[in-house]
Amino acid sequence: MTTPGGLRVRAIGSSPSVQRPGRACSSYLVRTREASVLLDIGSGAVGNLQLAIEYPALDAIVVSHMHADHFLDVIPLRYGLTYGPLSRDARMPLWLPPGGAQTLRRLCRAFTGEGQKDFLDAVFVVGEYDPAATLQVNDLRLTFRPALHYVESYSIRAECGAASVTYSGDTAPCDSVVEHARDCALFVCEATLGFGTEDEPRGHSSAAEAGEMARRAGVGQLALTHYYAADDAQALVDAARATFSGPVSAIDDGAEFTL
Ligand SMILES: [Zn+2]
Ligand SMILES: [Zn+2]
Repeated sequence: MTTPGGLRVRAIGSSPSVQRPGRACSSYLVRTREASVLLDIGSGAVGNLQLAIEYPALDAIVVSHMHADHFLDVIPLRYGLTYGPLSRDARMPLWLPPGGAQTLRRLCRAFTGEGQKDFLDAVFVVGEYDPAATLQVNDLRLTFRPALHYVESYSIRAECGAASVTYSGDTAPCDSVVEHARDCALFVCEATLGFGTEDEPRGHSSAAEAGEMARRAGVGQLALTHYYAADDAQALVDAARATFSGPVSAIDDGAEFTL
């Protein structure tokens, strides 16, 4: 049985590649008694994050894939940690998908003239997670499964005790993510396509497809995210309800779930 309060999830940013007005790109704060971990850090995340916690309190950042809307706020966070006034003693673990470090360093090379120290390494411990392994952050257990996207991308499942959330990252419907989300309390799933479809190659889901994945995975509740301003949130919820009979919401920045 799930112990309420074992895991708290807050949407820091819930927009796709272009933000909904006044909102941030993908970012989710997962908190337990002993861990505060940020899943993705898209544009605008650092500003919104501070409505929940002070950023030096993060134990780690974990990035699902190297699309700009999922990691670009590493740069303002680097400035914050470098120049203060908020700071931390130990460097912050920044976990990227395989190959992600090279992508990020290529981008940050544009800023190498700023200061004597390495742009990233002075404040971050930049690492690449092994998607086949478990990443343990204090009492929070993170696992990964390949998603179906245009670039290498992973769904991320976070568990603490019996409480669990699976974040789809960016994905088209696929068995791998469905299995990863199996029986979890909360499934945060992208609905980038809204009410539409896409041709091959697939890389995103509609609201109805997110609902279908939630149904197949047998999750407790579904939270739609990564949707465009043009798509009405309530209509997205209705579309997902056609394929999933459990509770559905379309999350906005600041939405919180206690599992
Ligand atoms: Zn995205
Ligand atoms: Zn993407």
